[in-house]
Amino acid sequence: MAQTAAQPADQNPMHIHSLHTRTCGELRRDNIGETVTLTGWVWRRRDHGGLIFCDLRDREGLTQCTFDPEHAAGDAFHTAETMRSEWPILVHGTVIARDPETVNAKLATGEIEVLVDHIQVLNRSQTPPFQIEDGIETAEDTRLRYRYLDIRRPEMMANLRLRSDFTFAMRRALHDRAFTEVETPMLFKSTPEGARDFIVPSRLQPGSFYALPQSPQLLKQLLMVGGVERYYQVAKCFRDEDLRADRQPEFTQVDVEMSFVDQDDVMGALEDVLSDAFAQVGVDMPTPLRRISYWDAMDTYGTDKPDTRYGMHLHDVTQIFSGSKFKLFANAAATDGQYVKALNAKGAGTWPRAKIDKLADVAAQFGAKGLAWIAFRADGSVNSPIVKFFSDDEMAALKAEMQVEDGDLVMFAAADRKLADEILGGMRCHMADALEVPREGHDFLWVVNFPLFHWDDERKAYASEHQPFTQPVEEDIDRLESDPLSVGSYTYDFVMDGFEAGGGGMRIHNADLQMRVLKLLGFTEERAEEQFGFLMEALKFGAPPMGGFALGLDRVCMLLAGKDSIRDVMAFPKTSSGSDLMSSAPSEVSLAQLKEVSLRLM
Ligand code: ASP
Repeated sequence: MAQTAAQPADQNPMHIHSLHTRTCGELRRDNIGETVTLTGWVWRRRDHGGLIFCDLRDREGLTQCTFDPEHAAGDAFHTAETMRSEWPILVHGTVIARDPETVNAKLATGEIEVLVDHIQVLNRSQTPPFQIEDGIETAEDTRLRYRYLDIRRPEMMANLRLRSDFTFAMRRALHDRAFTEVETPMLFKSTPEGARDFIVPSRLQPGSFYALPQSPQLLKQLLMVGGVERYYQVAKCFRDEDLRADRQPEFTQVDVEMSFVDQDDVMGALEDVLSDAFAQVGVDMPTPLRRISYWDAMDTYGTDKPDTRYGMHLHDVTQIFSGSKFKLFANAAATDGQYVKALNAKGAGTWPRAKIDKLADVAAQFGAKGLAWIAFRADGSVNSPIVKFFSDDEMAALKAEMQVEDGDLVMFAAADRKLADEILGGMRCHMADALEVPREGHDFLWVVNFPLFHWDDERKAYASEHQPFTQPVEEDIDRLESDPLSVGSYTYDFVMDGFEAGGGGMRIHNADLQMRVLKLLGFTEERAEEQFGFLMEALKFGAPPMGGFALGLDRVCMLLAGKDSIRDVMAFPKTSSGSDLMSSAPSEVSLAQLKEVSLRLM
C-alpha cells in the first residue's frame, strides 16, 4: 500500500508527478515540519468554534487537515467553512504533531495533522445518496446505481487493489516461467463450455453472427498447434446463463495452456505458479496440493468442490439397513445402484423439533423428496419419526458408524449414488453454516479424474463433464461407444475453500478421437465440421500433446478478500437479471441500428 514516508521522493515510485506531493495515507511523525500538498475528498468536517477539522480522503487513507483562521492565508478559512462532503479539494500546509489527547492510534496518520495555509476547491459535489463509509447497509442496487461512489469506499477500493495485486502476481509468476500472454478475439465463434452464447450480428455480412467466447478454449488449443508452447491470458469470458446467485454474464479467467506435457507436468506448473502468486499477496499455499478423486470427493463430501476445513463426512450406511423394517432404506439397499447415506451434524440434535422439520425444505433444494433424521437429545433420549422402525442392532451399528454422541443430528438420504451424495453434500454445507462451524485459513486441493461424460436428463443426452475437448483415459477409449459413462478423463479442478476456483484437463490432439467424442455428444459430422471444422483441421497438422487450465479470477479474489459475492471484487458488475444499473444496459437500440445489421424485432 502506501510507501513509507521516510523514503526520499525521488526514490519513491509512488511519487510520479501529480497535483499532490503526498498521499492522505502516508504522513507520520517523521514528517512533522514538512510542507505538503494533499488532494482528496472532504470526508468528515467538524467545526470546533474557531477551528475547522476536515478528514481528507484519497485512495491511500485519510489525513486530518486543520484550518486555523490565524494561520490560513486569504479566504482559506472561509472556504473551509463552506465546503461540503465529497468535494474534491487540494490543500497546502505544514505537517504538525497532534495534541497528545487527540492522537488516534487506530489511524495510520493518527499522530499528525496538516495545518492548512492554502486550499483550492477542485469541484463541488451533490450530497451522495449513501455515506462513503465501510460497512454501510445501503441496498446493493443503490450501490450499483452509483458504483463510482461505492468504489470510493475504502473497503471497495481495497478489494480492487487486492484484485490488481493478485492479477499482477499471476501475470508475473507466469511470465517468469516463460508463459507468453496472447490476446484472443472477442468476436469469434461459439466455444462450447456448456452455456448459451452471446451473439453479435455482423453488419458487413447480413444474417451472420459472431459469438462472444465462453472461454478462449479453442483458440488456446490452436496456439498450441501454432507452437506457442506456454500460453496465458487474463481473459474475459461470456456465458449467457440464468444468473444464479453468484454468476455474472461476463467474468474473468486466468487462462493457461501448455504443450509437450503430461497431466503431472501441467498440475506441477500450476501449483508452482499459484503458490508463487498467492505468496505475493501474503497467502501460503503449501505444495504439493492434496489430490482427491472425483468419486472420493463425492462419496465423502457429497460435492466435487469440498471444503475440507471441517469433517462432517458422508457415510455409506446401506448395508446396515439391508434387512430393515424401514422400507425406504431396505428397498434402497435391495436395489442396484441405490444407497442409504448418512451425515452427522454435531450440535443440531438439540434443536427444537420445528427447526429440524424445516430442514426438509432445505434438502428439497438439493433434490430430496423428504428428509429422514434422528435427533440425539442432550439428555440421552432420541427423537425421530423413523427410529421406531429400527432394530436395536441397526441402531447400534448406526451409532458406531456415525460416532454418535448426545446432541447429534443424523440425517439420511436414500437415492442413487449421485443424488444421495448431492443431497447430503448440500446439507453438509448448510449445517456447517447453520452451526457456524469454524473454517479458518484457506483450503486448497485438487479434485482429479472426473468422468468424461455425465447423463443430462433434461436433454436426454450425454454431456461433457468438463468440455468436449477433454482427453479420455487411454485404457477407457475402447469403451467410448459401448459404455460412455464409465470412461475416465484427464481432468483436475482447483478447489479453494469449498469453491471451484479453477479447472482444466489434457486435450484430445487427434482429429479422429475428437470426432468420436463429438458424435457421442450428439454432433453429426456436418454440424461438428460447421462448428469446429477449423479445430479438426488444425489437429491434423501435427497438434502436440497439450493440456491447460483456467483460474476463476473473480472467485479467487472474492475468497482472498473474504467476501461472499464476486460482485464485491468487480468494478462494474451486473445484477442477477443481467442489468447494469448505472448505465441501464442492456437497453433498446434504434430501428436504424437494427436495420444496419439486418435485424427486426419480433
Ligand atoms: N476452458 C475451460 C473453462 O473455461 C478451462 C480449461 O479446460 O482450460 O472452464
